[in-house]
Parts: sequence; C-alpha cells; structure tokens
Amino acid sequence: CGIVGYIGQQDSKEILLKGLEKLEYRGYDSAGIAVMNEQGVRVFKEKGRIAVLRDIVDESVQAPVGIGHTRWATHGVPSKVNAHPHQSNSSRFTLVHNGVIENYSILQREYIQNVQLKSETDTEIIVQIIERFVNEGLDTEAALRKTLSILKGSYALALLDHEDANTIYVAKNKSPLLVGLGDNFNVVASDAMAMLQVTDQYVELMDKEMVLVREDEVIIKNLDGEVISRNPYTAELDA
Ligand code: GLU
Repeated sequence: CGIVGYIGQQDSKEILLKGLEKLEYRGYDSAGIAVMNEQGVRVFKEKGRIAVLRDIVDESVQAPVGIGHTRWATHGVPSKVNAHPHQSNSSRFTLVHNGVIENYSILQREYIQNVQLKSETDTEIIVQIIERFVNEGLDTEAALRKTLSILKGSYALALLDHEDANTIYVAKNKSPLLVGLGDNFNVVASDAMAMLQVTDQYVELMDKEMVLVREDEVIIKNLDGEVISRNPYTAELDA
C-alpha cells in the first residue's frame, strides 16, 4: 500500500498515477486518486489494479493538486466503497490513509455517533472527526492536530480541504511518509521511488509530525503546532 501527493502548476493526474504504479510492488487491493482545482474536488477509485483506475479517470479534468492511494484492506473488505480517498459527509474534506486506527470504534462512539458512515473502514472516522471539529469552529490545521492527538495506531495520511486549494495537509505516525521538494511544486510519497521522476530532494518526517505542503513551501510542525526545521537529503537514483 502507499500514498502519493502533488501540488504545483502541472496537471496532477498522470504524476499521481505514475507514482502509484511505482508503489505497486508494496501490494494493494484497490486504488484511488482525488484531484482538486478551484472548481472543487473529483474522486476516482476502484477495486483492483491501477490500470482499472486509469480507465475511469476523467481525462478532461485538469487539476494542479491531488492525492493518491493504494489500499491494503485492514478494516472492511476490498471494494470500491472502502477504497480511498474517503470524504467527510459535506464533501469538504478528502482523505487517504495507510495504517490502522486501533481505537476507531471508541472514537466513532465518542465523537461522531450521529454521523452516517459510508464505508466500513477505520479511515473514514478520521475525516468525519476532522469535519466535526471544523464545524465546532476550529480551522482545518487545528482540527487535524486535535484529531491526530486522539488517534491511536499507525497512519500516513494526506488531506485535502476544498475550501483551501493551496494546501495538502499531511501527517505521519509509524507508517512511512516523505515530502519531496521541487521548483514551484512539492510532492508527498510513502517511498521516494514513487516520485523520483519529478525530484530527488526529500525531507524525512518523524512520528507525530504534520506538514502543510504548498506549491512554494513546506511547513513541518509537531502536534503542539511548533514549527520544525529539517534539511532535505538527495535520494539515490538506483531504483
Ligand atoms: N486501515 C485502512 C483501511 O483498511 C488503510 C489500509 C492501508 O494501509 O492501505 O482502509
């Protein structure tokens, strides 16, 4: 399973699909992408191979921001509905996640008991809880940080907020995730191999860090909101 993301000036679809193909070796049962432009977000997902996903992606959509996912099901059968990305019920938030949320049923009861869930995944509760906290008045970054602070388990995740087309929100705990740096773009990947075709400059993330990834900046923070600075390294092109 794996995650990719792109934010920049090019169309993101092909970069995401190529990146997911590079992650196929990790194993998966379904795949999906979400792409965002000023008009909104479009989600494409399917059970099965990335070649199947390719066939259903609407070629006419041009979007300079996107996230992608290959799923290895842990909660809920492999299916189109359970494939990622998952959206909050207002569709404002769109999320991909690798890992396992161990306390998802406790969190569901405590925070989103009245929310109708669409999937059987542990992942969907993350995006629904973020939406709840935003509805209560937090901004997206604060809502994400508050949500991360109550999650138990492992996650590499990437989040889109339809009301902020300039940011991919990213977070990591006990699942691999890197940010790749480019000229007028930045990327996200579980493995540098996925994005070596666009950059060889990567910033490692530590557990319990979150990142605001924008076209021209990458801001790493801890869960207290303190900014962390870290130098990139050059990934070897021996893949
Ligand atoms: N636990 C999540 C699910 O079953 C994510 C699985 C994965 O890492 O791909 O949907």
